[in-house]
This record gives sequence, C-alpha cells and structure tokens, in this order.
Amino acid sequence: MSMFSAMGLGDLVCKSVDGLGYETPTPIQEKTIPAILDSDRDIVALSQTGTGKTAAFGLPIIDKINTENRKIQALILAPTRELARQISSDLSIFAKYIKGFSVVPIYGGADVYPQIKSLRSGCHIVVATPGRANDLIQRRVLDVSNIRWLVLDEADEMLNMGFKEELNKIISQTPDGKQTLLFSATMPREIVNISRNYMSNPLELTIGTKNAGAENVKHLFYVAQARDRYLVLKRIVDVNPDIYGIVFCRTRNETKEVASKLMDDGYNADTLHGDLTQPQRDYVMSRFRSKNLQILVATDVAARGLDVNNLSHIINYNLPDELEAYVHRSGRTGRAGKEGISIVITHMREHQKIARLEKMIKARFTKMNIPKGEDVCERQLFHLIDKVKATKVDHIHIGRYLPSIYQKLETLSREEIIQHFVSVEFNRFLEYYKNAPDLNASSNKFSRDKQRGRERDSWNERDRSKKYSSDGPQPSRDRSFGNKGFKRFFINIGKKDHLSVVDLIGLIKKRTHNRNIKIGTIDISKSFTFFEIESRAAASIVNDFKGANFNSVDVNVETAQNESNPNKGRFDNPAEREPYKAEHKRKKRSKSNDSKNVGHRKGKRNY
Ligand code: AMP
Repeated sequence: MSMFSAMGLGDLVCKSVDGLGYETPTPIQEKTIPAILDSDRDIVALSQTGTGKTAAFGLPIIDKINTENRKIQALILAPTRELARQISSDLSIFAKYIKGFSVVPIYGGADVYPQIKSLRSGCHIVVATPGRANDLIQRRVLDVSNIRWLVLDEADEMLNMGFKEELNKIISQTPDGKQTLLFSATMPREIVNISRNYMSNPLELTIGTKNAGAENVKHLFYVAQARDRYLVLKRIVDVNPDIYGIVFCRTRNETKEVASKLMDDGYNADTLHGDLTQPQRDYVMSRFRSKNLQILVATDVAARGLDVNNLSHIINYNLPDELEAYVHRSGRTGRAGKEGISIVITHMREHQKIARLEKMIKARFTKMNIPKGEDVCERQLFHLIDKVKATKVDHIHIGRYLPSIYQKLETLSREEIIQHFVSVEFNRFLEYYKNAPDLNASSNKFSRDKQRGRERDSWNERDRSKKYSSDGPQPSRDRSFGNKGFKRFFINIGKKDHLSVVDLIGLIKKRTHNRNIKIGTIDISKSFTFFEIESRAAASIVNDFKGANFNSVDVNVETAQNESNPNKGRFDNPAEREPYKAEHKRKKRSKSNDSKNVGHRKGKRNY
C-alpha cells in the first residue's frame, strides 16, 4: 500500500500519483490531504510555492468529487492565468483515470466565449483568476452557488494584485456549508481578515515558519552604488556561467531596460512583463522552461505562475517595495530538495532592509564581495576548461579533417596549442575585465568612476555587433553629442507615447529591415527622442521611417544637425530645438511639483 492510499485516497487517484512518481507525500500534503478527506473544517495553510500544494488540495477534492453531478463542485481561485492553467492541467493529470471528470480553467487576457462554452457544457471543477470569475458570475454564466470546496491559492498574491473586491464578491456568492481552503506563503493582516470574515474556526496549518523562505536557499547580498547595479549584475552572471535564474526588477520599465542591456551585451536573456501578449509570454516561458533561455528578467507579477523547479539563482536587481514579496521570489529557487541561491543587490542605505528581511525569513544573509575582474576571469577560464573536457568528440565526422588540422598545428608545442586554443574564447573576458574597477560600495570613488567608464567602453568592444550603450541612454544634459561613426536623428515620439528603448530599437530594425543595424545613444524625452545610427546605415533612415506609425501616432524622423560640432548651438534644426525648450520648461515645472507630491508619486508603479 502506498503512503498516499494509507492516507485514505482512492485507487484511481493513487494510480495517477504513482504514474507521476510521487513516492512520499510532502509535508503540506501529509497535513492537508487527511484534513480534507475526513472533515469539512476550513483550513488556512501557510506554505511556500513549490511545496506540492496543488496535489495537497487537488488529490482529496478529486477523490471526493461526484462525477454523476455535472454542477460545479469546486472553485479554485489563483492570482494569474498561468497559475490557473497550470493547476487545471495538474488536476486533469491527477484525475486521468476518473471517467467523465472535467475541469475548466477560466482566466482574463483570453477570449471569453470559448470559456463560456466550456462552462455551459458542464464541469466539476473551475480554476479561475478572480477578475474573470467575478465577470462570469455577474453574467450568470458561472454558478458557484452549489460548490462544496472553495480554494484560495496564493491568497496573499491575489490581494497584492488588487483582487480584494473581486474576492469578496465571489465569496459572497458561494454557499455557507462549503469547505474553504486558503493557501498563502505569507500572513499579512488582510489574509487574517479574510480568514476571520469568511471562514469558521479554521484549522491553521503551518509548514515551516511563517513568512519563512525555503530552507535550502542561501541568501546573499552585495553592496554597491545604486548606479552600478547593472555592472554588478553582469559580474554576478559572469562568475556563474551556468546560471539558470530569474532577475527580479521592480517595474515593467526597469525589466525592459535590464533585459535589453543584457541581450545587447550578448547574454542569453529575455524578459517577462505585463506588456507582452499571451502568445509572447507563452513563447518566453517555454524557452525558459526548456532551458533555452538562461536568464529571465521579470516583474513579480509577470513571474507568478511560472512553475520551474530547478532554478540555480534568483537575483533581486532591486528589492520589492513589499518585502514579503521576497519570500515568493526566493521561494522560486531551492525547490524539490535542490539547493538554491537568492541574491540581493543593495546600495548602502538599504542595510536596514536586509536586517528586516532576515527577521522576516528567519535566516541569515551573507554579505558577499562583488567579484573583481580577476575573479570573473579565473572562473570563466576554469569553466571553459571543464566545458572542453566534458565535450564529446564525434570521431566519425571530425576524423577526416584531423590530418590537415594536425599538419597546420605541427609547429606548435602541446603547451602552445593549449594556450592559443584557450585564448580564442578567453581573450574577450580578459580584455573586458582588464583594469575593471572594484564595484564594492566602499572602494575609492574617484578611481571607480574613472574606470567604470573604461569598463563600459570595453564591454561595447566585446560585442562589436551592437553599439547601444550598455549603461543605457544618458540624460540630455550629460550626453556628449555625436558618437564617432554615428549620425543623430530626431523622432517625434517619446515617453508620452509610451515609447521605450526596446520599442525604438524594434521600430528601427523593423523600418530598416536590418536586424544587425548598429544603434548608438538613445535619449527619450517626454514628447520626442534622439537616437544615433551607424553612419553607413544612416542615409536611408529618414526615408525608411516615411509612413511609419507608433501607437497610432504618425512618426516623423529628421536628421539632427549637430554631430560635428558639439559646442555650436546644440539644436540647429528648429524641430529639435522647440520641443527641447518645451521639455526643459516642463521638467523645471515638474521638478518643483515633484517635491510637493512625493507621497502621491511614491505609490505609483508600473508592471
Ligand atoms: P506545487 O507546489 O503544487 O506547484 O508543486 C511543486 C512541484 O512538486 C511540482 O512539480 C509537483 O509535480 C511536485 N510534487 C508535488 N507533490 C510531490 C510529491 N509528493 N513527490 C514529488 N514531487 C511532488
């Protein structure tokens, strides 16, 4: 008898559990499965993501479902469409041997009519995001008045995402006698309120300590100047050549910017944020899941529902505003018994936050020295050697070339061959990190500033196919005009048109039909933008953009006149001067307003 059937689960469910290779129940399953099978008591379970929650509630509910009755018997609410789809697919697998069983996922961001059709043809379990569930209850398509189980999965996340009102409305439509199962990784006051208001005498199960991070995660932090964050991120990635992880940013714009820089700098990275369409998200996620992508740059919201078990690293590019989100972030590594590393890049004034995090997760953070250039080079060198050693030789296919290769190399000794061969790959790292500055926050500021510039330049050298500055667009007043070999252009769209650096790069590549075009500095202002294009591709730019459109705005590109003489009137082109003056005035105005409105602006975030 398996441990699952010993808990009281029926044969058909146990058979699929067997097929999945689950041998022993996880701690949350051990506590929850009997409690659902044997009682109607509400449950509040504190448990991290990746602990086997889906089977913890899914197996006993499926076991107790009456398949003869086509009315909805269980409603499972989850914060994101990805999680809703994931849960639904897991439940189908658990119920694979149960004849006639049906589960329907419903979620926003997708055509509602197929979902309505599925609901109308009857099902036993609905897995839904709160917004879509509430919508379909209002339209009287989703009937939750007879459910026996209500599951609130990742309840804290649903509240963080602003679904409080929807949750209240949905719960008010459900019957009194149901069993409510609330799962949450953290226990903020709102969750306590939900359990007080909507649950009667719930059984409180805690797996691990409240708000604690996963046990096998090491928490590390690096202290750098805030403006060096990106360079520190690169060092961290460079000393971990096999990294497979998520870089968490705070806002959608930061996500786009960091991902765009990483991609431009030649890393295998991509981004997940709220602006992507569903097919785009699915594409990025499937590349990441299949490890074709090493680094995913994401916001907290976008990364929810991404179920990946073997991440090596989580990097907090910026700490979340709500520190509790750190528990979710770090809980994405160290899953399924594996070790994981969660890294925080902080600046000097954030040490209080680290202390608060330590208290919250009941674990220590280790302060790490930001790797120096030589550390990176050494790590990369040995990684290269290990890779070479582990590479299988295809004797059949390479065999016929070998005699000529041996002949070509015959003048070199064994040692010389090794030296040359290793240098092919390694020189670019040596070159880039030659004289690389110490980025640890306490180091000498002057030499660091001087050398940081050098580091940027040599990095651009490293990937000659891309010229876009690795440190992103500079503010207008600091920017030197006219990168050598580049021509500067004015375009009549900017931040107010929701133009981002990534958008503009995409637009340029699309209009020029040239994926490899070299793009220099991009400087986006509120209502217009300047960008640089390599001189040899610049002649046709104005024409290429004729008839272009961005977010329903007719686009107009003109040559900026001043590359050759930076000291002469900066804006020889009147079209360039006027909007700049207007922008300058606006900035001055908004600067004085900013100081008055700090409180209001602080709470506003992009995802
Ligand atoms: P969840 O927390 O439901 O997202 O589950 C996390 C991962 O653990 C999923 O990949 C499950 O397939 C896996 N899992 C769940 N329960 C068990 C178990 N008892 N034994 C082994 N793996 C499990």
